[in-house]
Amino acid sequence: MSERYAVIGQPVAHSKSPWIHEQFARASGQSIDYGLIEAPLGGFVRAADEFRAAGGKGLNVTLPFKEDAYQYCAQLSPRARDARAVNTIRFGAETFGDNTDGVGLVRDLASLGAELRGSRVLLMGAGGAARGVLGALVEAGVARVTIANRNETKAREVATRFRGVSAGGYEALKPEFDFVINATSAGLSGNSPGVPLDVLSRAKLAYDMVYGMETPFLAAARAAGVRACDGLGMLVEQAAESFFVWRGVRPDTAAVLQELRGR
Ligand code: NDP
Repeated sequence: MSERYAVIGQPVAHSKSPWIHEQFARASGQSIDYGLIEAPLGGFVRAADEFRAAGGKGLNVTLPFKEDAYQYCAQLSPRARDARAVNTIRFGAETFGDNTDGVGLVRDLASLGAELRGSRVLLMGAGGAARGVLGALVEAGVARVTIANRNETKAREVATRFRGVSAGGYEALKPEFDFVINATSAGLSGNSPGVPLDVLSRAKLAYDMVYGMETPFLAAARAAGVRACDGLGMLVEQAAESFFVWRGVRPDTAAVLQELRGR
């Protein structure tokens, strides 16, 4: 019988994770059953417990439950601990929580030819996604990461937890970044996080973690002549790392991403 996995979130109907994991399973000759769980706000623990009791082997966790999942897991990987957010749960004797967003971003940036070592990175946002990638950016050898967030206090609080990371508001930013990464959800509501145009114009690459749409941030980058990429590659790469956490097999991502882009 196929082992059961699912993505849990609110809303979750739009999720591409079931399709992506089915491709990974097929390509690696495995059989899994991957579903969707739409849990009510405040209903994460109950839904996760029920899935586990019904024989579920693992969960992907998306908005708004990554912090609930962090609290829920008895064991945490160092990267989940750093992020204080969990996007991958493996059920076993103990419930293990991991965060694969950072690996996902760094692998996608590498496949886009972005040389992170020694670079200066502006990371916009201080929510779960931003926290999830900071550790991986630092580990990739960046010279400096600056976090900017609408709520500056939150940015400062996050920055203090990572070595070599500083924080500030959007107005104080100088045009000195090689990579400008949007880890805010502003694009989902048709907004841009407010990065000054001179900062954006100087970047080699503008990257928005939101995918499947031309966000105002990506449109502004393109209009300024800056290479602009959405977060679809990160989505596939973080999923591949989750698949590895569950199944011990690292699936090939290029073909899956190519097919997803073609859809
Ligand atoms: P959170 O809700 O935890 O954080 C949202 C962040 O966006 C906060 O920093 C918030 O600022 C900021 N923000 C929201 N609206 C605006 C706005 N209008 N202007 C400026 N800043 C704004 O979300 P996550 O961090 O979990 O996710 C962020 C985005 O990343 C989501 O859109 C998600 O889809 C995407 N994502 C993509 C992944 C991928 O694989 N491609 C993986 C993970 C996430 P403030 O603190 O001031 O409220």
